[in-house]
Amino acid sequence: MSTETIKSLSVFFPCYNEQDNIERVAASAVDVLESLGIDFEIIIVNDGSRDNTAQIADKLASQGKNIKAVHHQTNLGYGSALQSGFKAATKEYVFYTDGDGQFDIKELPLLFEYVPDYDIVTGCRIKRQDSLVRKINAFCWTTFVNILFGMKIKDMDCAFKLYKRAIFDDIKMKSTGALINTEIFARAKNKGYKVFQLGVHHYPRTAGTQTGAKLTVILRAFKELFALYKQIKSDK
Ligand code: UDP
Ligand code: MG
Repeated sequence: MSTETIKSLSVFFPCYNEQDNIERVAASAVDVLESLGIDFEIIIVNDGSRDNTAQIADKLASQGKNIKAVHHQTNLGYGSALQSGFKAATKEYVFYTDGDGQFDIKELPLLFEYVPDYDIVTGCRIKRQDSLVRKINAFCWTTFVNILFGMKIKDMDCAFKLYKRAIFDDIKMKSTGALINTEIFARAKNKGYKVFQLGVHHYPRTAGTQTGAKLTVILRAFKELFALYKQIKSDK
């Protein structure tokens, strides 16, 4: 494994009400990135949290460990949080994982050996720690959008992804909700970007509340999906 190809990296975490997770997640990222010896920045994207996430993010940002905080005044949704993270990123590569600690950032270096041959390196959860209903929903969703956009992504919404940052100068995203990952993959495919997929571990949430399975989140994803499908067809 080599880190020679990655000289600088932005790492960000979308966070909605993650006051009991974000400190531990950010500390683990600092440890991993310092040990790799690369130029890095960490961005905490506070998506309008109603708990103390904002205060904790600002406190971490004031401690001089290459941590920045980006705040949404209100909760704008997962896609908006990812968009703000990509926009705030300044380094050559950008990686994100969730601010709830369901992934282990120590696995980040596993992704490095696939750049620069690939533009996106994306995780696939080895044993997804979610309910059976959620796993069935995710399987149906992934199968459906893969067919719709002619893709072969195994785990669409796995929150463990590394990108060449320049991709986001080229791809403009519109999704504000959970459709965001599908949108990025579909637009990246149209532009000919190459994707590598590899297994990563997934852990149960130990604090805070998940919102990814809410009906409003699913309905918003379908609404945004129709708009995306029309745009992508007209772009061709
Ligand atoms: N999140 C966010 N904005 C939202 C909803 C979620 O930034 O409107 C964050 C959340 O704090 C977490 C990540 O996105 O870090 C994934 O959310 P969640 O854990 O609820 O989804 P799941 O892991 O269950 O798919
Ligand atoms: Mg989660």
